[in-house]
Amino acid sequence: MILALDFGGTKLTAAVFEPGERNWRGHKRAFSPPGAEAFQDITTMLAMAHELLAGAQPAAVGVSFGGPVDFAAGRVRLSHHVPGWEDTPLREILRGQFMAPAAVDNDANVAALGEYRFGAGRGHDSLLYITVSTGVGGGWILDGRPWRGAGSMAGEIGHMMVDPAGPLCLCGKPGCVERLASGPFMAEALRRAWSEERGAKEWESGDWRLAIGNGEITGVTVAEAAAKGDGAAVKVLERGAWALGVGIGNAANLINPRRFVLGGGVTKSGERWWQAVRRVARETALPEVKFDIVAAVLGDDAPLWGAVALAQNALKGDA
Ligand SMILES: [Zn+2]
Repeated sequence: MILALDFGGTKLTAAVFEPGERNWRGHKRAFSPPGAEAFQDITTMLAMAHELLAGAQPAAVGVSFGGPVDFAAGRVRLSHHVPGWEDTPLREILRGQFMAPAAVDNDANVAALGEYRFGAGRGHDSLLYITVSTGVGGGWILDGRPWRGAGSMAGEIGHMMVDPAGPLCLCGKPGCVERLASGPFMAEALRRAWSEERGAKEWESGDWRLAIGNGEITGVTVAEAAAKGDGAAVKVLERGAWALGVGIGNAANLINPRRFVLGGGVTKSGERWWQAVRRVARETALPEVKFDIVAAVLGDDAPLWGAVALAQNALKGDA
């Protein structure tokens, strides 16, 4: 039996999986309460895991963590959402708890492994998985194995600079893929465009009130308004798709993977977005560099399935 754990930004999920079966033996989810600290999240997760295992010992434990991880050392570097995670030896904690081999990696690398082993990447020994959501992250599979880089920092396509004259990203650099293509930044760009276009007052009482809902514009608003033909929304969505396409084309030229697998909420933005990403990536890469770009299939469970694959690798003594 494999124990798979997913420490997301706001939710914690534990599942047990029997190799050969098609579904989870058991599955539990809890929300990380606002103001929670790392030790509370760990305690909640361990309680769910012990409940699922009901006294049984897992063969191995795999963990997806929503933040930077030093894979070789088995340590969480930090969390951007929950305080107290700094330099936590999570692998040792889990080994001690479950007396089994354990492996911990960041969510993008783990999702890449999940899509490779169980999802849209099956049979493709070289791929880049990209999540396009509140941020933009990536994880490599090269020659059938995760490629993490010298310091577990490979795959950061979100911070590839595609427009040196562009707006400043959270990382401090201008024109990153994430700064242009992620949901919250596209929403911000649309909010600005609409208020400039119509004037804040007219916008408050205008026909976009329904789409805006409680007054908040999100990445979903951008996609919906673009689908209805709103000019500003189309422009914002296509600029985001352009930024991601340039990033993908450059990654293709540099590493030459066979496939790009795209997951995350922004990939639900409709056919216009997909067409733009594929067209720009194709225009950016050399004609001889062949690849395809497909949608992830594991959805929200990608980190859990990846954690299963990670645990299976740990069992084989394989990174
Ligand atoms: Zn950046």
